[in-house]
Amino acid sequence: MPAYVYDLNGLKQHAASISASMKGALGPELFYAAKANPDAAILRALDPHVDGFEVSSGGELTHVRETLPAARLAFGGPGKTDEELALALDLGVERIHVESPHELARLAEMGRRAAVLLRANLPIRTAGAALQMSGPFGMDEEALNACAHRIAHTPHLTLRGVHAHLASGLDAPAMLDLARHIIDWALPWLEAHGVERPELNLGGGMAVDYRSPESRFDWGAYAAGLPDCAARLRIEPGRALTAYHGWYVTDVLDVKTTHGETYVVLRGGTHHLRTPVTKGHDQPFTVLPRDGGGRTAPAPATLVGQLCTPKDVFARDVPVPSSLRPGDLIAFGMAGAYAWNISHHDFLMHPKPAFHYLS
Ligand SMILES: *Cc1c(COP(=O)(O)O)cnc(C)c1O
Repeated sequence: MPAYVYDLNGLKQHAASISASMKGALGPELFYAAKANPDAAILRALDPHVDGFEVSSGGELTHVRETLPAARLAFGGPGKTDEELALALDLGVERIHVESPHELARLAEMGRRAAVLLRANLPIRTAGAALQMSGPFGMDEEALNACAHRIAHTPHLTLRGVHAHLASGLDAPAMLDLARHIIDWALPWLEAHGVERPELNLGGGMAVDYRSPESRFDWGAYAAGLPDCAARLRIEPGRALTAYHGWYVTDVLDVKTTHGETYVVLRGGTHHLRTPVTKGHDQPFTVLPRDGGGRTAPAPATLVGQLCTPKDVFARDVPVPSSLRPGDLIAFGMAGAYAWNISHHDFLMHPKPAFHYLS
């Protein structure tokens, strides 16, 4: 205690059903964004059901390549170093998602063959909202034009298409709307730049609703709604693939009331499961009473960890059985993505959790 528990069988079924939805005549290729959870057992479980993996650092690249020597890889992310770009070419990365003209210039100067998607960050108007990935990601049209020009004059580089990861947390209709806007802009642009058999990577960001653990992104509607178009489409979700099949299980150390608020103090904390703090939600959970427990009326409590900071909160003012007591177990669900791997493990020097794989 505490432990992460991954349901690899459930994960395989989930990935297989998504992949089945994508398998229409020209359905999009499915890559997994490894940053959501790069656990080797998870990568291996996903491998038969995805077309490839998107990696965002030299570390991820090395790790995914070691874990899956034959996997198709795409390398994205801002701030790639020369060493990382060289490593990508050494390790046989299939597509490099170039983020800026300077990055492209450094890649060109290496004098090695590389196939490139240019990452676009265009303000796109969808149903009522203008979307644009905030932050240092991708390029506007002027920079994209400069890159296309540079590639056209660099024989060892090939422009294969456009990459656009513009939003996250969108449901299928909103994702489709965004996809149509990207396609409408990118196809003529790629044609104007003479790109044959163009590729369009539409990114990830498929919604995961932590308030509704049973709901799922509608992959069938998404795949069916994508327009038939002249480009090879590709998507690279992370969270919506792996979030549902991980649990963080721990036990109650103390139950106390201070200033009228009841706190349930759990072993471990957000240094193991940072997701609720990062996303600003209550992490969904199930109570497993030590003695099987009778049913008791629920009472509101705040579930916290062992860290000496008021931010160490898993769920605030949520109903728990009023009989909850030390030794009872709590299993936090939806802890399979952006969970252990985004947490600040060494803060306060508590022990690390165990990892269990159900298969
Ligand atoms: C993080 C990221 C993804 C995956 O996003 P999810 O919200 O986990 O689906 C895909 N592509 C890029 C470029 C990313 O940065």
